[in-house]
Amino acid sequence: MADSTELRARDTIHAGGEWRAAVSGHTREILDPADALPFAVIAEGDEQDTDLAVAAARRAFDTGEWPHTPVAERAALLRRVADLLVRDRETLGLLESRDAGKTVEEGRVDIDCVADAFRYFADLVAGEAPGRVVDAGSPDIHSVVVHEPVGVCSMITPWNYPLLQASWKIAPALAAGNTFVIKPSEITPMTTVALIDLLVEAGLPTGVANIVTGPGHTVGARLAEHPDVDLVSFTGGLISGTKVAQAAAVTVKKVALELGGKNPNVVFADACGTEEGFDTAVDQALNAAFIHSGQVCSAGGRLIVEESVRERFVAELARRAARIRLGRGTEDGVECGPLVSEQQRAKTEDYVASALAEGAELRCGGKRPEPSPQRPESGYFYEPTVLDHCHREMKVVREEVFGPVLTVETFRTEDEAVALANDTEYGLAGAVWTADAGRARRVAGRLRHGTVWINDFHPYLPQAEWGGFGKSGVGRELGPAGLAEYRESKHVYQNLAPKPVRWFTG
Ligand code: NAD
Repeated sequence: MADSTELRARDTIHAGGEWRAAVSGHTREILDPADALPFAVIAEGDEQDTDLAVAAARRAFDTGEWPHTPVAERAALLRRVADLLVRDRETLGLLESRDAGKTVEEGRVDIDCVADAFRYFADLVAGEAPGRVVDAGSPDIHSVVVHEPVGVCSMITPWNYPLLQASWKIAPALAAGNTFVIKPSEITPMTTVALIDLLVEAGLPTGVANIVTGPGHTVGARLAEHPDVDLVSFTGGLISGTKVAQAAAVTVKKVALELGGKNPNVVFADACGTEEGFDTAVDQALNAAFIHSGQVCSAGGRLIVEESVRERFVAELARRAARIRLGRGTEDGVECGPLVSEQQRAKTEDYVASALAEGAELRCGGKRPEPSPQRPESGYFYEPTVLDHCHREMKVVREEVFGPVLTVETFRTEDEAVALANDTEYGLAGAVWTADAGRARRVAGRLRHGTVWINDFHPYLPQAEWGGFGKSGVGRELGPAGLAEYRESKHVYQNLAPKPVRWFTG
């Protein structure tokens, strides 16, 4: 990649229909995590840029046509956006790969899922009845509950699925008739900037979609507290999410939080009763823990396996984890990219060191890989790591690592498996592997997690709500509830034969 001095800064702040540089003139280099070299330079916004963008979104909501645009037209626009995403799939998939360090194939799959989100919310609003008539018990009363947009929405997104997380907010917000200002993660903003271009190309009116690129403590904090914002939707870590909720409470904004997870993958021995069953459970345990180097909110980083199959299962898992091909996500044959940043790798290294100090046994990984042409020494690579003999008091078992680290715990009874799987302050997702259909349903029914997979790991559907119990968040994305987040309900009660009530007699 070219020296950073050769890169031209792109104006990445979009407020009121114009692309602009930051008011301060500051810029930021965006690094490729595979070699730590800059591949783009963007505007580094702050509170002043945020205020301009919120003012534009406010104007577009209060005086513009979008909140009143017929639902069929809003749906048609979302479908055009989906078509444009399909058109630009290769470019956007590559950009997501370079920005977040994932493989290009993962980048392409992300873009397909983004297009699906736009189509899903288009279909959902287009197929709805305009209001719900309520039987007031009298022919003289006409009572109907209608939905209206909330207003100006601020959206704050993380770096692991930059465009996908943005789409789970933008698509329902637009479907419902809101205007918005989005702040992508400061380290992976590129595809969200590109999406704003596509929204404009699809014909979204001026001021409806706004973006401010910049850090969390300035742009994010201002979006969370801004008095002219009606709703804040945040996806990210627990610490930042708590700050956002506190700031938003001052002006009583609606708040949606999608936070972290510590997700159990429970494997019963009967799931491994055949060679095929064993192979599938091991393969999916690898996928659960190591896809995108474990930087997934629903990563199955906690394997909870029945004692009787533990040794065979963990030996095979470690053997296969050690063979995962690490490298630059844009290279052919690479299965896992680098971590997103030096900070994220250092955090992972700290967790592994603490686990070993607390008595875990290293079965594979636990270090940076040897550099190679696919893996420059300057890239943030870390080997997939399996830690055996872990227990619930260990920091690595309790906290979200967000790196390629799998811990192994064991159980003897179903009750013990459920107790372990629920022993987390989070509650985002979990899986149970078993050949016994009754047990599958029983265990799934007892898990306190927002998504439970039976004999699978990771799939989600845009039609089904996504979100967490406990400290994994507040509210839901996707599904009908994901649209409801962006709406107010309004009850319109019409008296067709008004008369005095005579409550007061004077
Ligand atoms: P993060 O909390 O560090 O940052 C998320 C976003 O918040 C970024 O845009 C950041 O700039 C901004 N931010 C930081 N401090 C802020 C503040 N004080 N006020 C307002 N905004 C602020 O998280 P991350 O490291 O980017 O992402 C990883 C986390 O995201 C993990 O915990 C992961 O589990 C979570 N996540 C959850 C889901 C889900 O669906 N539940 C999905 C993806 C990621």
